[in-house]
Amino acid sequence: MALIVQKYGGTSVGNPERIKNVARRVAQYRNAGDQVVVVVSAMSGVTDGLIKLAKEITALPSEREMDMLLATGEQQTIALTAIALQTLGIEAVSLTGAQAGIVTDGVHTKAKIQNITPRGVHKVLDTGNVVIVAGFQGQTPEGDITTLGRGGSDLTAIALAAALNADLCQIYTDVDGIYTADPRIVPSAKKLPEIAYDELLELAGAGAKVMQLRSVEFAKKFNVIFEVRSSLNDNPGTIVKEETNNMEDVVVRGVSLDKNQAKITLFGVPDKPGRAAGIFRALADAAINVDMIVQNTSHDGTSCVTDLSFTVDKPDLLKASKVIDQLKPSIGFKESISNESIGKLSVVGVGMRSHSGVAARMFDVLAHEQVNIDMISTSEIKVSVVIDLAKGEQALRALHQAFIG
Ligand code: ASP
Ligand code: MG
Repeated sequence: MALIVQKYGGTSVGNPERIKNVARRVAQYRNAGDQVVVVVSAMSGVTDGLIKLAKEITALPSEREMDMLLATGEQQTIALTAIALQTLGIEAVSLTGAQAGIVTDGVHTKAKIQNITPRGVHKVLDTGNVVIVAGFQGQTPEGDITTLGRGGSDLTAIALAAALNADLCQIYTDVDGIYTADPRIVPSAKKLPEIAYDELLELAGAGAKVMQLRSVEFAKKFNVIFEVRSSLNDNPGTIVKEETNNMEDVVVRGVSLDKNQAKITLFGVPDKPGRAAGIFRALADAAINVDMIVQNTSHDGTSCVTDLSFTVDKPDLLKASKVIDQLKPSIGFKESISNESIGKLSVVGVGMRSHSGVAARMFDVLAHEQVNIDMISTSEIKVSVVIDLAKGEQALRALHQAFIG
């Protein structure tokens, strides 16, 4: 008998038929004698719909109340999934994140899991039930409902698999696994049999929306091996695990396009110690993730000033712009602008550690496509550039063709 954690994303539970389909798959495992813990997301579109409702009331709703609101999405699905299992004659009990023992810090809308006490989960499993846990949510030690950031059901599943010491962790989604690129943009993209945590992290960080970034970090930290596979067929998926030696033979594992970033540029920032610290400390205090940062030095004749650009997640742009506006007097920059029409292109592979020339080849391909590069950043296993969003898909296809075929 194995203990299996299965996570089903929003499209996999997108309508009653799909929920019944999930129930049939869970029933197969249960009938084979396995213990199954199922983590579900909200039905696709539900979380977005709830956000939209709140935004119709105000542009900046309170984050505590957003958590209260968004947590209802997953609660619909756990109950519906339990009902679907029960109609198949399988005993099932749904649990909220709090009931499953998921305790988080108090950073609303982006809470971090502090610990999991899965006593309640074990108790229900031990009586022969399938346990259905609401993804994406937890509660603070004080009892306030929190959510784990968009896509956070992945984190619920990985963290539960670690806490329960599960034998198998399966992430069911609407694609067959992890591809060399988004197949909707690059038709020749191929499914990868396996990928290293670090590669998936860089691809997820680069906007490949297969898995929530934090959940992969968590899996790496606790060495949770998991499989990403489709809920719509029985094809084997992609195994995500620690890097092995032979993985370095492939130079570029995947390419991605992140359309979810926005750029803020500050002009005329005094080139003095402490200015960057002041800007990025204020953004960090507002829990805004900054990705790429580029600083130029320029002289305007009398004083030494510099221009500073950085990218943030698009949904954080309004908040980030507010923070920046408030800093104007203390930092003393001249003006700031933001641009939402950017795309971040990345090529990723652990093979870059031992192969050189990837960046040069990438820039050649972009030059050939007449794509202008706006910002550049690199890591040991990734090269990323910011370009005009309008050329993003064309550039992604060209990079895939050049590096992967
Ligand atoms: N329902 C949440 C979201 O849409 C969490 C998830 O789907 O994992 O972000
Ligand atoms: Mg999701």
